[in-house]
Amino acid sequence: MNERDTENSLLLDLTQSEEIEEEKEGKCSKYCNPLVSIIIFLVALLIVVLALVVFWKMEVPEKTRTQIVGFNQSQISELIKTREECTTAECITLSSTLLNWQNTKIDPCDDFYEHSCGKYHEHTMNDGTRVNEKDRIVIKLIQHFLLSNQSANTASEIAMKIMYRSCERSLQPRNIITYREAIQKEVFQNIKKIGNWPMANMTWNESEFSLNDMIANMAKLHMLHYGFFEAGILDYPIDAAPKQLMIRPARSRFDMFLPEFTHVISELLRLSNVTFLNETLTKDIQDGLNLDTELGKFRIPDREPESVTVEELKRAVPAIDFERILKTLLNPERGNWTNVKNRTTAARFESFFNPEKNISSIIFKTKPRVMANYLIMKYIEHAYIYYSMRFRYASKYSHCLELTINLLPRAALRVFVRNHYKKENMVVASKMVEIIKDAFIEMFENSTWLHEETRKAAILKVKKMNKVIGYTEEYEREGALDQQFETLHLTPDDSFFTIMTKVHRFKTEQLMEYVSTNSLLNPIDSLVVTNAFYFPGKNLLSLLAPFLDKPHFDAHYPRYVTMAGVGRVIAHEIGHGFDTEGRHSDETGQYRDWWTPEDSAEYDKRASCFQKQFDEFKDPFLGEMQQGLGVLSEVIADALGMEATWIAFKKLDLSNEQTLIKFGDQDQDFKKLFFRAAALDFCAPNRIDKHSPRHLLKWSHPTHRFRINGAFANSRSFTEAYNCPLGSRMNPIERCDLF
Ligand SMILES: [Zn+2]
Repeated sequence: MNERDTENSLLLDLTQSEEIEEEKEGKCSKYCNPLVSIIIFLVALLIVVLALVVFWKMEVPEKTRTQIVGFNQSQISELIKTREECTTAECITLSSTLLNWQNTKIDPCDDFYEHSCGKYHEHTMNDGTRVNEKDRIVIKLIQHFLLSNQSANTASEIAMKIMYRSCERSLQPRNIITYREAIQKEVFQNIKKIGNWPMANMTWNESEFSLNDMIANMAKLHMLHYGFFEAGILDYPIDAAPKQLMIRPARSRFDMFLPEFTHVISELLRLSNVTFLNETLTKDIQDGLNLDTELGKFRIPDREPESVTVEELKRAVPAIDFERILKTLLNPERGNWTNVKNRTTAARFESFFNPEKNISSIIFKTKPRVMANYLIMKYIEHAYIYYSMRFRYASKYSHCLELTINLLPRAALRVFVRNHYKKENMVVASKMVEIIKDAFIEMFENSTWLHEETRKAAILKVKKMNKVIGYTEEYEREGALDQQFETLHLTPDDSFFTIMTKVHRFKTEQLMEYVSTNSLLNPIDSLVVTNAFYFPGKNLLSLLAPFLDKPHFDAHYPRYVTMAGVGRVIAHEIGHGFDTEGRHSDETGQYRDWWTPEDSAEYDKRASCFQKQFDEFKDPFLGEMQQGLGVLSEVIADALGMEATWIAFKKLDLSNEQTLIKFGDQDQDFKKLFFRAAALDFCAPNRIDKHSPRHLLKWSHPTHRFRINGAFANSRSFTEAYNCPLGSRMNPIERCDLF
């Protein structure tokens, strides 16, 4: 019998004694004498009490029993409050993790990181945190599906399997040479689709050249970069549109020099039985490289300059028919050009608008032969990665596995969700987001220094924050994803390169669909990673499914555990909306200053306290100290996340929460468990290698040790849980505080 059953029997006994009393009042018979009734009642009560004492001595575990001996009223209520233990597989694993990773010899008030994570390395072969391990598990699960004989029933599953297997075949050593030649022949066929190529045609005549035809044909294949300019998606609002198709200067330049390019192109021509003169070829390639260098001389600012309409761009660069080119990027049947057109924009870039020199003047003075060769060279460089060994995912997983998951992230997510995921987790997480948003609002309401105007804008930003939990609603409908895959026709007979061309075209069409709709899910975003994100340009919080899964999350974990773990990460991500960078965007994602000058100054002053604190933090396992400026936004997101999560935690009704096996069941125990659970995501083996200061500058996040010891010590809630003596490392005299 567990403790909950015991509690029920107690209630049952009490109810029964009430029923006896009612009966007595209703039917007065031989016990009507009041004195007799009182005596009988007292005897009955005594029997019940004695029975309970005997019963509890027999049934209640040692720890609880000591609380009820003596049996007065307050102890009965304590007894009723006694919590059940959470005995789901996930909870048992969690208890075991907490017990195994901790080092109880370390005082939590001195080094909470070591206290919580000190024995992590004794229990894992994992080089990173449990988040990294979960990433690997999820990828392995998808690989298992791809390798298994389990039949693929849906369009997205079929596409994944065909792509993965074709990729693996192309990498088998016995196939490498034949496959390389087959791809080269296909590349040559695709070049013919783009236009007449002077290098491959001795009788090429410049009257055959059309710049717009060639670029439009490249776009039809799937390409978005054309040397003279490129098309890309902007995921933040300009004017009224939340996202746009942006025409901007091409940023990528040739990665190959003359000798390599000459080798690649002459091999391609020879295989296709094209005769050519070495000298002419070298000159053509050099001309193409020179044109690329010239186009690369325009300055591209980090932030887009003032936006302009496509009409204005057309007037500045009349030689390029932008609309015609962009239109070919859409699916001919399903694409909505009107919507895409309304969301197409450009900006006053030097390469388009400089009156002295811009791409228009370059096009005007460059020979058609050079431009035609140049565009084909752009395509060859792209295609070359598929038959050279230049493009390989350098990770622990197979290249083909990563390629498949990265190019078809929605299909990959579906495999994970359908086969290995509890969808109820998403529902619980979605509710948690709302609770934490309320905590942020309370934090702003209680701020002692925010002016009313700033406070209102901050609250509005929280209220309007979008959320994606796992995936967006449009994919909840049965068959919704497969409808998308109707336009991707892969067959097992397709060569690997044909598959790549089709998949890239499919992605391009998806991107255009993304621009034309209000979907929050960008098709290029990774979906099967154990992480959560905040996108300031969309004021969007995104929690990915693998993160809302064991061991980080479970719908049946006690709520103080979920609040400390996933809740704290949700709050950290929302906190990015108010960190040193995120605070510059408003509730629509627009880059706009919504702070009063006084509030901005106060914010900066308070932020510098965090920076100083971080700069002074010494991690014993780092050769050098990390500098605060590069990671300040993360430090602040951690501080805000901790504060908001604690506000939300304090609002939880803990009376019915289960406890974890081997952990206490009082409110104070839950407060401690809150911090212990929060620390788990940062446990990692100590890095004992020495880092150069330059290397440290590349780290986007503070060290794990700081994220626990530094961030927790700053939080008054930690002191409330652990009662650390004032002046101890985890309860310092000086603290930083943002809002
Ligand atoms: Zn962050």
